Amino acid sequence: MFKKTCKKFLSILLCVAVLATCTVLQALAFSPTYDPSADTNPPTFALSKAQGAPGDTVKLELSLLNNPGIGGWKVKLNYDESALELINIDANGAFSGAFPNVEKAVVGWPSAVNDNTNGTMAIFEFKIKDSAKGDYNIEVVYDSKDVYSYSPVDIDGTREVYFETVNGTITVIEKHTHSLKLVEEKAPDCVSDGNKAYYVCEICGKWFEDENAETEISDQSSVVVPAKGHSYVWKYDEKVHWQECEVCGDKTKTEDHVKSETIVDTTPTADKEGKGHIDCTVCGAHLSDVVIPKTEEPSGEPTTKPEPETNPSSSSSSTPGGNSSSLVTNNPDGKGVVETGASEAVFIIFAVVVLAAAGVITAVTVKKKRANR
Ligand SMILES: [Zn+2]
Ligand SMILES: [Zn+2]
Ligand SMILES: [Zn+2]
Repeated sequence: MFKKTCKKFLSILLCVAVLATCTVLQALAFSPTYDPSADTNPPTFALSKAQGAPGDTVKLELSLLNNPGIGGWKVKLNYDESALELINIDANGAFSGAFPNVEKAVVGWPSAVNDNTNGTMAIFEFKIKDSAKGDYNIEVVYDSKDVYSYSPVDIDGTREVYFETVNGTITVIEKHTHSLKLVEEKAPDCVSDGNKAYYVCEICGKWFEDENAETEISDQSSVVVPAKGHSYVWKYDEKVHWQECEVCGDKTKTEDHVKSETIVDTTPTADKEGKGHIDCTVCGAHLSDVVIPKTEEPSGEPTTKPEPETNPSSSSSSTPGGNSSSLVTNNPDGKGVVETGASEAVFIIFAVVVLAAAGVITAVTVKKKRANR
């Protein structure tokens, strides 16, 4: 009796142990499998850096990098409200339909399908308060359920997607009178960009259009004057042609001339030779003059000249056919052979008819002779 109870107890214990192991394994299987440190290009929300003096406004750009395909995002910035005031969010970046909320320092974007877009999510504009001093960290945060993928999905129809975050910084420098240095205008050439004249503050590094630091240049690419590119024209000598830039003399595409067919300038007649010339079909260079021989007959003769040239080729093509070359001088090969075959058949039929007739005649003659006997 005791043995039986003991056995029962042991088997129950075993069952419990097996169930417990299964549960633990299951829990392990559902733990997050994404390891950010193993990913060299992780999906990232990144905020830029800026600097300014108290009273200035500065802009920070929030960007999305290495998008694996998501159905939406919502990102919030945390910052020191005693030193900084968020005055605007421009959400007209790479994500159309993104909506900003300045009061909450939030910008969000929903999509109906998984989307791989990368780029600017929003530009945040901060005013630096008078009390501000030193560096300010601008923290990028998001709620895991606000960044999701439609595929593959969890039970609720979406799947959370892990993103790294890169915080921004606003460095507050002392109020100063800008100390401007002129960057002189530079004309662009064929291959290098030039620039308009502008001024740079040696203290804060800001760029200005004017020497009084009244108009700041926020987009530094706006001073660039693009390279003009080469202005190539064809040049040539007797053997080759090439392209040469009229501005800087750069040479490229040096190649042999390509001869044209004879271009007829004066048509030949029976009495008089014609004139023509040969050009390069690529650069147009005049390569040589050509004298076109007189025509042998007033008209039609020019077309007879090509014929002797084409005949050798047709006779050479008839050579493989072979058997009856003399019969097929002016005819295509196949036709001649077919005709020969037909005449042979006619001959055989004729021969059969003749033989048959001879047989009939012989038979009739023999019968008559027998009847005569
Ligand atoms: Zn300055
Ligand atoms: Zn050039
Ligand atoms: Zn040429």
